[in-house]
Amino acid sequence: MLLITDVTAVTMDPDRRVIDDAAVAVDGQRIAAVGKTASLAALHPDAERLPGRGMVALPGLIDAHAHADQSILRGMTDDLGWVPFLAEWITPYLARRDPAAAVAAYRLTMAEMIRSGTTCFVSPNVDPRDDLAALTSAIGEMGVRAVLAHWVDGEETLDLACAAIERWDGAAGGRVAVRFGLDIPRLPDDPYRAALYPRVAALGHGLVYHFCSETEDWTYYDDRFGLRPTQWADEQGLLGPSTLLINGCWLTAVEAGLLADTATPVVASPTATMKMASGTTPVRDLRDAGVVVALGTDGAANNDSFDLVREMKSACLAQNATRRRAGTLSAEDALEMATIEGARALGREDDLGSLEPGKRADIVLVDLRKAHTWPVADPVATLVYAAHGGDVDTVIVDGRVLLRDGLFVDADEAAILADAERAAADVAALLPQRPRRWPRG
Ligand SMILES: [Zn+2]
Repeated sequence: MLLITDVTAVTMDPDRRVIDDAAVAVDGQRIAAVGKTASLAALHPDAERLPGRGMVALPGLIDAHAHADQSILRGMTDDLGWVPFLAEWITPYLARRDPAAAVAAYRLTMAEMIRSGTTCFVSPNVDPRDDLAALTSAIGEMGVRAVLAHWVDGEETLDLACAAIERWDGAAGGRVAVRFGLDIPRLPDDPYRAALYPRVAALGHGLVYHFCSETEDWTYYDDRFGLRPTQWADEQGLLGPSTLLINGCWLTAVEAGLLADTATPVVASPTATMKMASGTTPVRDLRDAGVVVALGTDGAANNDSFDLVREMKSACLAQNATRRRAGTLSAEDALEMATIEGARALGREDDLGSLEPGKRADIVLVDLRKAHTWPVADPVATLVYAAHGGDVDTVIVDGRVLLRDGLFVDADEAAILADAERAAADVAALLPQRPRRWPRG
């Protein structure tokens, strides 16, 4: 038994209790109890202690849209619209890179995630050339959870994806899940995948589906079928609770109703969609319609960060700015999206997303006793509006302590950074060189 004591527990339980002077008891891989430190300490006098020292305890954050292979592109692809971004950088990166570079990128991404409190992520569009044995091994060593969506665009990649699911779904002690990764057609000459996608959905392993991010995503369907993308997806049997739709910046009210009726979750990535000028996911409208909306960073290539703490603030500001009403999306809304709603979006709400007895012991301690976060009038507001991922002190996944006092317990961070630097240099040599705006030397 491990007893985390003297924390302010933001439980995210159904009553959204925030418990002062709290303790969390961990038995093996699961949470055994959440309550007052005095009472739990009396019940478990022999438990190993992990003093929380006044920090805020949260469930591990869930990044539901994180291209974990893109961390080594950080700083290389800024200020690009989606056409050059995908055509000149991301697609060539996927095609030309050494699979080992992707592993180095994943390790760097996971190190950043752990440092900023993310314990579970969804990486869409795992490439068929990727070394899944090495990726799942790296996830196992780093200790976090991952949903890997294997890219499918034809018969060959569908066969490979099925083999990947058969072999790797449930790897790393059950912390790795594998799904199918789909992408919405967008350009006029994009192949129409109406025959393929329903077959993929019918296999029942879950979809991670880039969806209606850009205006071209809906004009494509409007031009061809006179339908909104969500109407088309519904007709093809692609909607449902095991489909995770990415972005959805251009979803309409009618589509929100369809997503609510089919219990289809959406993940918003506000920083990336604002930075790339794609648009803004109508999070407030979707939530009001009853749609589960998770939160994602998208990644280091178009967000420059996997910090989900900072992403929560972006989520609020994007909604307030587009609706021109303060408080359109509250700090509480944003924390729900990053925790319990993320768990619901992955169908894991019975296991993840809150500090409750019986759930997996994925716990984050955040130190808000700093100049930029003090005083703490409201721990949730301070966490969302004032804190950043660097304020995370301790991270526990499945009862295993990954980070303590801001230091990795097992991972060799210096080696991870060195490997990523080498991989980034190798990759840069394979991609277009962009002129520098300012001289450097
Ligand atoms: Zn994406």
